[in-house]
Amino acid sequence: MPSSPCTLCNWGRLHASPESPPLVGSLLVSRLFMYPDQSYYGRMALVCSRHVEDVLTLPQPDYRAMCDDLHIAAQLMSALFPESRLNLAQLGNREAHLHWHIIPRRSGDYNEGAAPWPHPVVDIGYERLRALAEQASRLLEQIANRNRSPL
Ligand SMILES: [Zn+2]
Repeated sequence: MPSSPCTLCNWGRLHASPESPPLVGSLLVSRLFMYPDQSYYGRMALVCSRHVEDVLTLPQPDYRAMCDDLHIAAQLMSALFPESRLNLAQLGNREAHLHWHIIPRRSGDYNEGAAPWPHPVVDIGYERLRALAEQASRLLEQIANRNRSPL
């Protein structure tokens, strides 16, 4: 499969291989991946399923759907790590492909009380990352089903 010059497009194409971080799940218009750098344990990235550079190049109905996806990802992170404070960031300075960083913050972590950057890179290994993705994926399915249920 030919690779794309866009790293995050490649994550979408290669998600079943160690060449890409493990996929947690596919949502309405995005995919949720474990983030390779686990300096904040449990960190994920919510990546738009198609290549758009930023929120202004995403049609408004898709932007609303991505906000719904972001809300589900936030619920997931809160359920997985209830002790953490959730940081959400959409920057696009390094990767011009719409994505959100979903970062659980804890007391005593790097840059406590401030923005998460800069920080040292922490590689926990692909197998641990994949195991965490599988745990998160099961919980994501429960949350998505609960959100689809009538109130
Ligand atoms: Zn892309």
